[in-house]
Amino acid sequence: MTGPPNGQLPSEIDALNRDPDPLVSDTRLPFPDLCAEIHGRIAKFLLQDTDDSRLKATQEQTRISLGVVEEALGRYSLPELSLAYNGGKDCLVLLILYLCALHEKGLTTAGPDGSQGSAVQCVYIQAPDPFQEVEDFVASSVKTYSLSLLEYAKPMKAAFADYLHDTPNVKAILVGTRRTDPHGEHLTHFDPTDHGWPAFMRVHPVIDWHYVDIWTFIRHLNIPYCSLYDCGYTSLGGTTDTHPNPALQRNASTSQIPQRTIPNGTKNGIEQPKFRPAYELVDDYEERLGRDR
Ligand code: FAD
Ligand code: MG
Repeated sequence: MTGPPNGQLPSEIDALNRDPDPLVSDTRLPFPDLCAEIHGRIAKFLLQDTDDSRLKATQEQTRISLGVVEEALGRYSLPELSLAYNGGKDCLVLLILYLCALHEKGLTTAGPDGSQGSAVQCVYIQAPDPFQEVEDFVASSVKTYSLSLLEYAKPMKAAFADYLHDTPNVKAILVGTRRTDPHGEHLTHFDPTDHGWPAFMRVHPVIDWHYVDIWTFIRHLNIPYCSLYDCGYTSLGGTTDTHPNPALQRNASTSQIPQRTIPNGTKNGIEQPKFRPAYELVDDYEERLGRDR
């Protein structure tokens, strides 16, 4: 994959035209209002006329993925659909697209008596050694996005068997896997689980997004994300198998990223963090350099 035009960093490109207000705030909105707000911001993003090839590519991926989510909403009723959410960047993008599509399809309902209204079904499988930052971000997502999230602390297959037992209506699960993830190479938008896995339909709306598209979307729409990404983590697992990405180490000779700082790790006399933020990485295949497996 080639880098961005003119050697610009993704952070520099989207700083030019990113939305100044965060997509969501700490004040919890009624569910239909939240989805309407997200829908409005995405509609504006899709209408934006731009010469920036990175932004254009992300607009195109967004249109394709919204089509896939809408198709899922045509094939399955809301009680039959769930989303695999682990607080990572890819399923965060997927969640936002899902909420946008729910508004588009008129599927957001206010609760009786003006309460928050319908919640989105999600499943989170906790790593044996989770990062507190990930746990905190998942918890804050539950509040912000009115998620109805069930959590399991066991290996994935067993966790999904339990989940299907606990939510017998669920027939399909939206998953944020991308092409360059392990096992992602041959996936399509709709794939039944493999032999040996609990049986349900996997839906992969963001399968063809590049790493850089994910960050362009998150940064451009100003979507709050897990704080670990600002510390050089680019792919999140558990604390024992996940490290900051060595390609983002400041002054690392192997880094693809233009080096423009800073003798002895300081800028204007202020100590610099050792790693650059996740959104400064460009190459899909460097994403998992901070993962042991
Ligand atoms: P990531 O890149 O972080 O994960 C990609 C996406 O998977 C995330 O965006 C999220 O939607 C989901 N996800 C990952 N980890 C979690 C978690 N802890 N809790 C909730 N969601 C999570 N493998 C097979 O070989 N055959 C299968 O049929 C199969 N079915 C699966 C069905 C589902 C719903 C999921 C979530 C996984 C399945 N897997 C299956 C495993 C999959 O191939 C990956 O090994 C696994 O998702 C870890 O992915 P990753 O390390 O690339 O993590
Ligand atoms: Mg991923």
